[in-house]
Amino acid sequence: MPSFKYLFGPVPSRRFGLSLGVDLMPRKTCTLDCIFCEVGPTTHRTLSRKEYVPTEAVLKELAAWFALNLKADFITVTGSGEPTLHTRFGDVLAAIRAHGQVRSALLTNSTLLHIPEVRTAAALADVVKVSLSAWDQDSFAAITHPSTGVEFDLLVDGLRKFRQDFSGELWMEVFVVPGLNALRNQVEAIAALARTIRPDRVQLNTAVRPTAQQNVPSLSEPQLRSLAGYFTPAAEVIARFAPGGVPMHDSPRRSASAEPGARSGLRHADKSAVRAMLQRRPCTVEDVAHAFALSREEAETMVRELVGQHVVRAEVRNGETYYLGG
Ligand code: SF4
Repeated sequence: MPSFKYLFGPVPSRRFGLSLGVDLMPRKTCTLDCIFCEVGPTTHRTLSRKEYVPTEAVLKELAAWFALNLKADFITVTGSGEPTLHTRFGDVLAAIRAHGQVRSALLTNSTLLHIPEVRTAAALADVVKVSLSAWDQDSFAAITHPSTGVEFDLLVDGLRKFRQDFSGELWMEVFVVPGLNALRNQVEAIAALARTIRPDRVQLNTAVRPTAQQNVPSLSEPQLRSLAGYFTPAAEVIARFAPGGVPMHDSPRRSASAEPGARSGLRHADKSAVRAMLQRRPCTVEDVAHAFALSREEAETMVRELVGQHVVRAEVRNGETYYLGG
C-alpha cells in the first residue's frame, strides 16, 4: 500500500458511506472560522484563491489509489479548510468523474459560489454539500467569524445560482447552536431561505465532537428532531445520539459495500494513516477501530502511541473521549 499525503481513508461516514477524502488545503486555511469547526480554529483566514497544494501530486495519488482497485462509495473533496479556495479543485473532480467508478462529493461552506468559475468547477461533483446556518449577516458573523469581504447576501445568491445550473444532488447542512440560531423564529428564517435554494436534502447537526471554540452548546435529540419539519424537504438529523438522547460520537457506520478483505477500501491501519484521519476529524477509539477494521484493543494501542509521541491529544466531550491531531 503506497502512503498518501493528500488522500485519507477511506473511512466509513454516516453521510457518504465508505468515503475516501481528498485534502486540498493546508491546515487550517478557510474563508471562515466557525465556532463549531471540528478541524480546529482557522489559522489562515482568507479569500485568496490559489493552488494551495500541487494539483499534479494530488492527481498522481488519485491515479495510484485507482490502480489499487479498492472500494469506496464516495471520493470526498474536503479536508483541512475550504476546498474551493484551491483554484484547481475542479481538475480533481474532473479526474474522479473521468475514472467513472466512484461518485464524488464536494464539501463547501458556500462562500465562494458567487464566483462563476467556482460554480462551474463545483458542478463536476455528483453531490455538493453546502452549509447554511444563518439567516442574515449578523447571525452569519456570530457563528462563522468570516473573512472581511464575505457577504451573506452574496453567499445566498451564489447558492441560488448554483442550484439553477447544477443537475447533481445538493445537500444542505444546518448546524444548530443554542443561543445563536436555535430559536423557533431563527430556524424558520433559515428554513425560509433554504426553500429558495431548493436543496435535495437538508441535514441538521449540533456540536457532538470537540469544536474549535470550547464549550459550544448542543441541542438534545428531541429538540433537534422538533426542528426537522420546518424544512422542505423535512430535515434529517445527522448528529448521533445515544438511546437516552445524550449526544455521542458520530460513530462511523460500515457501508453496505465495505466488507473487510483484500477488495475492501478498508485497510489495516498504519500509524500515519490513523494520524492523518485524526488531524482532520476528532475520533473516538471506536471510530478508529471501525475506520481501519481494527479490534478496539489494536485501535487503543495505536492511539495511545500517538498520544505518547505528542502528535495526538485527548479531549472529553459529552462524556466521550476524542482524539485530535494537530
Ligand atoms: S466548519 Fe468548514 S467552513 Fe467552518 S471553519 Fe471549519 S472548515 Fe471552515
